[in-house]
Amino acid sequence: MNSIDEKLQPILAEVVRRNAGEPEFHQAVHEVLESLGRVVAKHPHYLDHALIERICEPERQIIFRIPWVDDKGQVQINRGFRVQFNSALGPYKGGMRFHPSVNVGIIKFLGFEQTFKNALTGMPIGGGKGGSDFDPKGRSDAEIMRFCQSLMTELHRHLGEQTDVPAGDIGVGGREIGYMFGQYKRLNNRFEAGVFTGKALAYGGSRARTEATGYGNTYFVQAMLETRGTSFDGKKVVVSGSGNVAIYTIEKVQSYGGKIIACSDSSGYVVDENEIDLELLKDIKNVRRERISEYARRRGQGAHFIAADKGSIWDVPCDVAMPSATQNELSGKDAATLIRNGVIAVGEGANMPSTPEAIKAFQDAGVMFAPGKAANAGGVATSALEMQQNASRDSWTFDQTEARLATIMRGIHDSCYQTAEEYGAPGNYVLGANVAGFVRVAEAMRMLGVI
Ligand code: NDP
Repeated sequence: MNSIDEKLQPILAEVVRRNAGEPEFHQAVHEVLESLGRVVAKHPHYLDHALIERICEPERQIIFRIPWVDDKGQVQINRGFRVQFNSALGPYKGGMRFHPSVNVGIIKFLGFEQTFKNALTGMPIGGGKGGSDFDPKGRSDAEIMRFCQSLMTELHRHLGEQTDVPAGDIGVGGREIGYMFGQYKRLNNRFEAGVFTGKALAYGGSRARTEATGYGNTYFVQAMLETRGTSFDGKKVVVSGSGNVAIYTIEKVQSYGGKIIACSDSSGYVVDENEIDLELLKDIKNVRRERISEYARRRGQGAHFIAADKGSIWDVPCDVAMPSATQNELSGKDAATLIRNGVIAVGEGANMPSTPEAIKAFQDAGVMFAPGKAANAGGVATSALEMQQNASRDSWTFDQTEARLATIMRGIHDSCYQTAEEYGAPGNYVLGANVAGFVRVAEAMRMLGVI
C-alpha cells in the first residue's frame, strides 16, 4: 500500500483500534486517507475540530435480530444492519445487501464509501448502507417476503424520506424492495414514496433506475477513454458478475460497439468468443434465476464455462475490465495478468472490487483506472432523481432520466479529472474522487459545527 501522511497516521491507527476485526472498513479508510495528504498540506484547517476523525465515525449504527419462519415451519434467525454514516449533505442514502458474508465491518465500509460517492453526484444526499447475512439463494418467494417483512418490522422506525432512504444492492432487487416498502407503508400508515428507491414503476419508481449503475459506469469509462483519444468501439471487454450492475454494463458497452467476451457469477465464469448474448443472459439470470453455467450449455458452440476453483475471469485477455460483482474480487495477481494481456482501462462497477495491490499495479503500469466511488455513482444519482420525482409527484420519460444520468456522470468524471490535476496527480482518478468527495462533505460539516 502507498504511504499515508504522518499527520493522518494516528487517525488510521485509531480507526483500526476502535473497529477491530473489520478489514474491509480499514481498507476503505486507508484508501481515502492516502489521498488526503495533499489536501491537508494545502488546506491544514481540515485537521481542526477532529473533522477527519468525525468523518471516519458513523453517526449511528443499528444492529438487530430478524426472526422469520421458513417454508418447513422452522424458525430462522438472521442479523440486520443499518449504518447511518453521514448526513451532512442530506438524508442517509444507500442500498441494502442480502448476502451471507454481510457483517458490520462490510456495511461500515460500504457506508463510508457511499458518503463520498453521494457527495460526488452533487445531489443533496448523505451516506448510509444496510443489509443482512440472509442468503436469498434457494429461498422461495414466500420466504423472501416473510424475511423482508420481519426485517422492516424493526428497521421502519429508523427510516423516513427526510431521514434515511434505502435502495437495492447485492441480493436486493425490485422484488425485495417491493416487500420492504409494502411493510413500511403498512406499519406507518402512510404512502411515503420517497423512503425507498429502486421501486417498480407501478408504485413510484423511476425509469432508468434499474439500468443506471451499469450505464453510468459505461459513460464514465467512455469519458476516460476519450481523454486518450479512444473509445469502446471494437474493444474486447470483460465484465465480472451477472447481476444488476453487470447486465446493464454489458447492454451499454454493446451499444457503444464494445465486444463483451466474458461474465461470471460466484460459481465461475463463461467465455463467449462470439460475444455475450444479452437476451439469453437476461433470461437465465433475471427470469429463471439460474447459474451461469447454463449460459454455456444453452449457447453451445463458441461458449464455455470455467468453474471458480479452476481459474479467474481476469485470465481472459481484454482491452477493458469492468469488475461488477463484489469487493476484493480482483487481486494484485489478477491485475498483473490483465496488464500482461494488454488491458488499457478498468472501470469499477462494484464497490471496492480491486485490492490495494491491484490498484497500485494498474496505476504503476499507466492503465486508466476508474474507482467505484466515482464510476458506479450513477445508481445512487438516479435514486436521487427518483426521490425528486416522488417529491414533485412527477414521472419523467426514460430519455429524460437517462439524459440527466449522462450529464451527472460526465460531471463526476470531469470533477475527478480536474481535482487530480489541481492536486498534482494528473490522471489519478482515485485521488480525484477521494479529494472531490471529501471536500464537499468536509465543507458542509465545518459549517454545521461540532455535531
Ligand atoms: P446482484 O446481486 O444483482 O449481482 C451480484 C453479482 O455478483 C452476481 O452475479 C453474484 O453471483 C456476484 N457475486 C456476489 N458476491 C460474490 C462473491 N462473493 N464472489 C463472486 N461473485 C459474487 O448485485 P448488484 O449487481 O446490484 O451489485 C454488484 C456490485 O455493485 C456490488 O459491489 C454492489 O455494492 C455494487 N453497486 C450496486 C449498485 C446498484 O445500483 N445495484 C450501485 C452501486 C454499486 P451469485 O449470484 O452467484 O452470488
